[in-house]
Amino acid sequence: MTGETRRTPGASGLEVCPQDLRLDKLRSAMGERSLEALLVSHPANCRYLSGFTGSPGTLLVTEGDAYLLTDFRYLEQAAIEAPVCRIERVGKRQGETLGRMARENGLERIAFEKDSLTFGGWERLKEALPEVELVPTRGIVESLRAAKEPAEIEKIEHAVRVAEQAFLAALEEIRPGLRKGVTEREAAWKIEQEMRRRGATRPSFDLIAASGPNSARPHARPSDRRFQAGDLVVFDLGAVVDGYCSDLTRTAVVGRPDPRQEEIHDLVLRAQAEAFKGLRAGISGGQADALARRVIADAGKAEAFGHGLGHGVGLEVHEEPRLAEDVEEPLPAGCVVSVEPGVYLGGWGGVRIEDLVVLTEGGCRILGSLDRDLMVLDY
Ligand code: ZN
Ligand code: ZN
Repeated sequence: MTGETRRTPGASGLEVCPQDLRLDKLRSAMGERSLEALLVSHPANCRYLSGFTGSPGTLLVTEGDAYLLTDFRYLEQAAIEAPVCRIERVGKRQGETLGRMARENGLERIAFEKDSLTFGGWERLKEALPEVELVPTRGIVESLRAAKEPAEIEKIEHAVRVAEQAFLAALEEIRPGLRKGVTEREAAWKIEQEMRRRGATRPSFDLIAASGPNSARPHARPSDRRFQAGDLVVFDLGAVVDGYCSDLTRTAVVGRPDPRQEEIHDLVLRAQAEAFKGLRAGISGGQADALARRVIADAGKAEAFGHGLGHGVGLEVHEEPRLAEDVEEPLPAGCVVSVEPGVYLGGWGGVRIEDLVVLTEGGCRILGSLDRDLMVLDY
């Protein structure tokens, strides 16, 4: 096993890169917990702290250094993308490299991310580091990631724009074919194509186009069901652009909406508007959730809103913080969260409206500009 260590150029420059600041923040968070070293194995956390976008990477952060462990296929990429790190080449056994680093740095305890290490990974680590105490941790980097930097918010806004424009373009293609019969799967694929055409590297999750009774299932998979006149259709879509995700939902009706469809859509829209009015940094995830839930409960539909109001969005499409009844922690300023109330009535259909907002001390700002009215797909 070779253990090439090289300090890559760029780290000594005068400009401070975001990763330097993030590592500083991480080290203070580690200090508060008396952790001298943290092994970061969750890919999004690794990317956030190092800048490295390749998949096989593990980061060991100590008080004085950050070591990026990767194999020879990624050495060049790592050196370019992660100038704040010492690049460590690993072979088949990452544990041996870690063992050597622990000895060289005199590490007696190494913390690890228990939600991303597999049981097998933990066993190998234990075997490779018999002298080292392994400390399980959860959510340290995730809570740093929750509050976004201005440049991150710009990237998310870009991903929102791509999703919105792709959605509108796809609808233009879908409309003329409605009478001949467009399937959910075809609609989802059109949206994905339009997103990629506009610079998305991939969708941020498997896109949802749920029609008729399927729209009552919040996470329906696109099927071969054809859109029919009178259907409610829930479109839930997101794009990954430059590593950052968007997440957007609109509900449409095929043909003329009936009064009940209009009524339920209006209810969900009012619930979302109430949330926009009351959302701000400092309130808890539970208080945020209640802003919209109250409106739906007052209309006697509490049972029909069976999921939380929203979730953080950034490098991952579901990340911290959560907007849900059981969350007591205050929402940090700068967090980007989805606001997505929904009403789902089995056998009839569902309505969900989802937008992303960034929270400030004084309120929230909506990212994106797509109209929220019930969309009508002429039939
Ligand atoms: Zn969504
Ligand atoms: Zn969402």
